[in-house]
Amino acid sequence: MKAEQKEQLYEGKAKKVFATSDPDLVIVSYKDDATAFNGLKKGTIVGKGVINNRMSNYLMGLLAKEGIETHYVEELSDSDTLVKHVQIVPLEVIMRNVVAGSLSKRTGLPEGAIPSMPILELYYKSDELGDPMINSDHALAFGWATQAELEQIESMARKINEILKKFFAGVGVDLVDFKIEFGRYKGKIILADEISPDTCRFWDSKTKEKLDKDRFRRDMGGVEGAYHEMMRRIGLK
Ligand code: UDP
Repeated sequence: MKAEQKEQLYEGKAKKVFATSDPDLVIVSYKDDATAFNGLKKGTIVGKGVINNRMSNYLMGLLAKEGIETHYVEELSDSDTLVKHVQIVPLEVIMRNVVAGSLSKRTGLPEGAIPSMPILELYYKSDELGDPMINSDHALAFGWATQAELEQIESMARKINEILKKFFAGVGVDLVDFKIEFGRYKGKIILADEISPDTCRFWDSKTKEKLDKDRFRRDMGGVEGAYHEMMRRIGLK
Protein backbone atom coordinates (compact mmCIF):
# COMPACT_ATOMS: atom_id res chain seq x y z
CA MET A 1 0.00 0.00 0.00
CA LYS A 2 1.33 3.37 -1.07
CA ALA A 3 -0.13 5.39 1.83
CA GLU A 4 -1.60 4.76 5.26
CA GLN A 5 -5.26 5.57 6.04
CA LYS A 6 -5.84 8.53 8.40
CA GLU A 7 -8.90 10.50 9.53
CA GLN A 8 -12.19 10.77 7.65
CA LEU A 9 -12.34 14.02 5.65
CA TYR A 10 -15.86 13.81 4.27
CA GLU A 11 -18.94 11.64 4.09
CA GLY A 12 -21.17 12.00 1.06
CA LYS A 13 -24.32 10.22 -0.04
CA ALA A 14 -22.56 7.18 -1.51
CA LYS A 15 -18.92 7.46 -0.41
CA LYS A 16 -16.59 8.35 2.44
CA VAL A 17 -13.23 9.98 1.88
CA PHE A 18 -10.23 9.46 4.17
CA ALA A 19 -6.94 11.34 4.40
CA THR A 20 -3.73 9.33 4.08
CA SER A 21 -0.12 9.74 5.16
CA ASP A 22 0.48 11.31 1.70
CA PRO A 23 -1.27 14.72 1.31
CA ASP A 24 -1.56 14.12 -2.45
CA LEU A 25 -3.60 10.92 -2.00
CA VAL A 26 -6.95 10.08 -0.39
CA ILE A 27 -8.91 6.86 0.07
CA VAL A 28 -12.46 6.63 -1.25
CA SER A 29 -14.70 4.08 0.46
CA TYR A 30 -17.91 3.18 -1.39
CA LYS A 31 -21.15 2.56 0.54
CA ASP A 32 -24.31 0.61 -0.28
CA ASP A 33 -26.45 3.67 0.57
CA ALA A 34 -28.49 4.97 -2.34
CA THR A 35 -30.26 8.30 -2.72
CA ALA A 36 -32.26 9.86 -5.52
CA PHE A 37 -34.07 13.14 -6.23
CA ASN A 38 -31.43 15.19 -4.40
CA GLY A 39 -31.55 13.00 -1.28
CA LEU A 40 -35.36 12.86 -0.95
CA LYS A 41 -35.49 9.12 -1.66
CA LYS A 42 -33.17 6.96 0.45
CA GLY A 43 -32.39 3.26 0.45
CA THR A 44 -29.78 0.55 0.29
CA ILE A 45 -28.65 -1.40 -2.73
CA VAL A 46 -26.92 -4.49 -1.35
CA GLY A 47 -23.51 -4.95 -2.95
CA LYS A 48 -23.56 -1.56 -4.69
CA GLY A 49 -20.44 -0.22 -2.96
CA VAL A 50 -18.34 -3.11 -4.22
CA ILE A 51 -19.83 -2.98 -7.72
CA ASN A 52 -19.43 0.78 -8.13
CA ASN A 53 -15.88 0.71 -6.79
CA ARG A 54 -14.75 -2.14 -9.04
CA MET A 55 -16.61 -0.94 -12.14
CA SER A 56 -15.43 2.63 -11.79
CA ASN A 57 -11.82 1.52 -11.37
CA TYR A 58 -12.09 -0.76 -14.39
CA LEU A 59 -13.56 2.01 -16.57
CA MET A 60 -10.97 4.55 -15.39
CA GLY A 61 -8.27 2.03 -16.33
CA LEU A 62 -9.81 1.66 -19.78
CA LEU A 63 -9.92 5.45 -20.22
CA ALA A 64 -6.32 5.83 -18.99
CA LYS A 65 -5.21 3.42 -21.74
CA GLU A 66 -6.85 5.79 -24.23
CA GLY A 67 -4.94 8.78 -22.87
CA ILE A 68 -7.47 10.22 -20.40
CA GLU A 69 -5.84 11.29 -17.13
CA THR A 70 -7.82 10.09 -14.11
CA HIS A 71 -7.60 10.19 -10.32
CA TYR A 72 -7.28 6.38 -10.03
CA VAL A 73 -4.15 5.11 -8.23
CA GLU A 74 -4.75 1.67 -6.67
CA GLU A 75 -7.68 -0.58 -5.70
CA LEU A 76 -7.12 -1.34 -2.00
CA SER A 77 -10.07 -3.68 -1.44
CA ASP A 78 -13.45 -4.52 -2.95
CA SER A 79 -14.88 -1.23 -1.70
CA ASP A 80 -11.84 1.04 -1.15
CA THR A 81 -9.61 2.83 -3.63
CA LEU A 82 -6.58 5.07 -3.36
CA VAL A 83 -7.03 8.14 -5.58
CA LYS A 84 -5.30 11.44 -6.24
CA HIS A 85 -6.41 14.20 -3.85
CA VAL A 86 -8.02 16.63 -6.28
CA GLN A 87 -9.93 19.85 -5.78
CA ILE A 88 -13.28 19.10 -7.40
CA VAL A 89 -14.44 21.59 -10.05
CA PRO A 90 -18.01 22.41 -8.90
CA LEU A 91 -19.62 21.29 -12.16
CA GLU A 92 -21.47 18.11 -13.07
CA VAL A 93 -20.88 17.33 -16.71
CA ILE A 94 -23.55 15.23 -18.37
CA MET A 95 -23.12 13.62 -21.77
CA ARG A 96 -26.20 12.30 -23.54
CA ASN A 97 -26.53 9.94 -26.50
CA VAL A 98 -30.22 9.10 -26.07
CA VAL A 99 -33.05 11.21 -24.62
CA ALA A 100 -33.98 10.16 -21.04
CA GLY A 101 -34.71 11.49 -17.57
CA SER A 102 -34.64 15.24 -17.09
CA LEU A 103 -33.96 15.91 -20.79
CA SER A 104 -37.18 14.13 -21.71
CA LYS A 105 -39.09 16.15 -19.08
CA ARG A 106 -37.53 19.45 -20.22
CA THR A 107 -38.11 18.99 -23.95
CA GLY A 108 -41.19 16.76 -24.12
CA LEU A 109 -39.26 14.39 -26.36
CA PRO A 110 -39.91 10.71 -25.57
CA GLU A 111 -37.32 8.64 -23.71
CA GLY A 112 -35.38 6.72 -26.36
CA ALA A 113 -35.33 9.50 -28.98
CA ILE A 114 -31.86 9.83 -30.53
CA PRO A 115 -30.39 13.34 -30.87
CA SER A 116 -28.38 13.99 -34.06
CA MET A 117 -25.21 14.47 -31.98
CA PRO A 118 -24.11 13.79 -28.39
CA ILE A 119 -25.28 16.57 -26.06
CA LEU A 120 -23.07 18.02 -23.33
CA GLU A 121 -24.73 19.73 -20.36
CA LEU A 122 -23.32 21.54 -17.33
CA TYR A 123 -24.89 21.65 -13.89
CA TYR A 124 -23.67 23.67 -10.90
CA LYS A 125 -22.81 21.28 -8.05
CA SER A 126 -24.90 22.49 -5.12
CA ASP A 127 -27.07 20.24 -2.94
CA GLU A 128 -28.93 23.26 -1.49
CA LEU A 129 -29.91 24.42 -4.97
CA GLY A 130 -30.55 20.92 -6.35
CA ASP A 131 -27.74 21.08 -8.95
CA PRO A 132 -29.26 23.65 -11.36
CA MET A 133 -28.45 23.45 -15.06
CA ILE A 134 -26.11 26.23 -16.19
CA ASN A 135 -24.09 27.06 -19.30
CA SER A 136 -20.39 27.79 -19.80
CA ASP A 137 -20.93 31.57 -19.44
CA HIS A 138 -22.26 31.05 -15.90
CA ALA A 139 -19.28 28.86 -15.04
CA LEU A 140 -16.86 31.51 -16.33
CA ALA A 141 -18.70 34.57 -15.02
CA PHE A 142 -18.98 33.15 -11.50
CA GLY A 143 -15.43 31.81 -11.44
CA TRP A 144 -16.36 28.12 -11.16
CA ALA A 145 -13.83 27.28 -13.91
CA THR A 146 -11.49 29.17 -16.21
CA GLN A 147 -11.84 29.27 -19.99
CA ALA A 148 -8.88 26.91 -20.36
CA GLU A 149 -10.34 24.50 -17.80
CA LEU A 150 -13.73 24.52 -19.49
CA GLU A 151 -12.21 23.78 -22.88
CA GLN A 152 -10.24 20.91 -21.37
CA ILE A 153 -13.30 19.56 -19.52
CA GLU A 154 -15.53 19.70 -22.62
CA SER A 155 -13.00 18.03 -24.89
CA MET A 156 -12.25 15.30 -22.32
CA ALA A 157 -15.99 14.71 -21.73
CA ARG A 158 -16.64 14.24 -25.46
CA LYS A 159 -13.66 11.89 -25.83
CA ILE A 160 -14.70 9.89 -22.73
CA ASN A 161 -18.18 9.54 -24.24
CA GLU A 162 -16.80 8.15 -27.51
CA ILE A 163 -14.57 5.62 -25.70
CA LEU A 164 -17.27 4.44 -23.30
CA LYS A 165 -20.04 4.34 -25.93
CA LYS A 166 -17.90 2.04 -28.07
CA PHE A 167 -16.89 -0.14 -25.13
CA PHE A 168 -20.47 -0.61 -23.89
CA ALA A 169 -21.80 -1.25 -27.40
CA GLY A 170 -19.32 -4.15 -27.51
CA VAL A 171 -20.98 -5.77 -24.48
CA GLY A 172 -24.55 -5.22 -25.74
CA VAL A 173 -25.32 -2.08 -23.75
CA ASP A 174 -26.48 1.35 -24.95
CA LEU A 175 -24.73 4.13 -23.03
CA VAL A 176 -27.76 6.45 -22.84
CA ASP A 177 -26.19 9.19 -20.70
CA PHE A 178 -23.79 9.68 -17.81
CA LYS A 179 -22.49 12.25 -15.33
CA ILE A 180 -18.80 12.89 -14.69
CA GLU A 181 -16.83 15.25 -12.49
CA PHE A 182 -13.36 16.65 -12.89
CA GLY A 183 -10.71 17.77 -10.42
CA ARG A 184 -7.68 20.04 -10.34
CA TYR A 185 -4.46 18.22 -9.53
CA LYS A 186 -0.98 19.74 -9.74
CA GLY A 187 -2.13 22.32 -12.29
CA LYS A 188 -4.02 19.84 -14.48
CA ILE A 189 -7.64 18.87 -15.02
CA ILE A 190 -8.18 15.15 -14.47
CA LEU A 191 -11.22 12.86 -14.39
CA ALA A 192 -12.40 12.25 -10.79
CA ASP A 193 -15.42 10.86 -8.89
CA GLU A 194 -16.97 7.66 -10.29
CA ILE A 195 -18.47 6.04 -13.38
CA SER A 196 -20.99 3.38 -12.37
CA PRO A 197 -24.66 2.35 -12.68
CA ASP A 198 -25.34 5.15 -10.14
CA THR A 199 -24.06 7.78 -12.57
CA CYS A 200 -24.85 6.30 -15.99
CA ARG A 201 -27.95 5.13 -17.79
CA PHE A 202 -27.38 1.69 -19.29
CA TRP A 203 -29.99 0.04 -21.52
CA ASP A 204 -29.71 -3.47 -22.92
CA SER A 205 -29.10 -2.86 -26.64
CA LYS A 206 -31.72 -5.39 -27.78
CA THR A 207 -34.49 -5.30 -25.17
CA LYS A 208 -33.84 -1.69 -23.94
CA GLU A 209 -34.19 -3.05 -20.38
CA LYS A 210 -32.79 -0.61 -17.81
CA LEU A 211 -29.61 -1.82 -16.09
CA ASP A 212 -28.91 1.15 -13.80
CA LYS A 213 -30.11 3.32 -10.91
CA ASP A 214 -33.37 4.23 -12.69
CA ARG A 215 -34.66 0.88 -11.36
CA PHE A 216 -34.20 2.32 -7.83
CA ARG A 217 -35.43 5.85 -8.70
CA ARG A 218 -38.58 4.50 -10.35
CA ASP A 219 -39.26 1.60 -7.90
CA MET A 220 -38.99 -0.94 -10.70
CA GLY A 221 -37.47 -3.75 -8.60
CA GLY A 222 -34.56 -5.88 -9.73
CA VAL A 223 -32.08 -3.19 -8.75
CA GLU A 224 -29.34 -5.49 -7.37
CA GLY A 225 -29.83 -7.86 -10.31
CA ALA A 226 -29.30 -5.03 -12.80
CA TYR A 227 -26.06 -3.89 -11.12
CA HIS A 228 -24.80 -7.50 -11.08
CA GLU A 229 -25.76 -7.95 -14.74
CA MET A 230 -23.66 -4.89 -15.67
CA MET A 231 -20.67 -6.43 -13.84
CA ARG A 232 -21.20 -9.68 -15.76
CA ARG A 233 -21.41 -7.86 -19.11
CA ILE A 234 -18.15 -6.05 -18.41
CA GLY A 235 -16.51 -9.35 -17.48
CA LEU A 236 -15.82 -8.42 -13.87
CA LYS A 237 -17.43 -11.61 -12.58
N1 UDP B 1 -26.76 11.94 -12.81
C1 UDP B 1 -25.95 11.70 -11.71
N2 UDP B 1 -26.02 12.53 -10.64
C2 UDP B 1 -26.85 13.62 -10.60
C3 UDP B 1 -27.67 13.87 -11.72
C4 UDP B 1 -27.60 13.01 -12.80
O1 UDP B 1 -25.18 10.74 -11.71
O2 UDP B 1 -26.84 14.34 -9.59
C5 UDP B 1 -26.69 11.05 -13.98
C6 UDP B 1 -27.92 10.17 -14.11
O3 UDP B 1 -27.71 8.92 -13.48
C7 UDP B 1 -28.06 10.01 -15.60
C8 UDP B 1 -27.48 11.31 -16.18
O4 UDP B 1 -26.66 11.85 -15.14
O5 UDP B 1 -27.24 8.93 -16.04
C9 UDP B 1 -28.52 12.31 -16.62
O6 UDP B 1 -29.40 12.55 -15.56
P1 UDP B 1 -30.68 13.49 -15.75
O7 UDP B 1 -30.22 14.90 -15.96
O8 UDP B 1 -31.58 12.91 -16.77
O9 UDP B 1 -31.35 13.54 -14.33
P2 UDP B 1 -32.28 12.53 -13.58
O10 UDP B 1 -33.37 12.13 -14.52
O11 UDP B 1 -31.38 11.39 -13.20
O12 UDP B 1 -32.76 13.33 -12.40
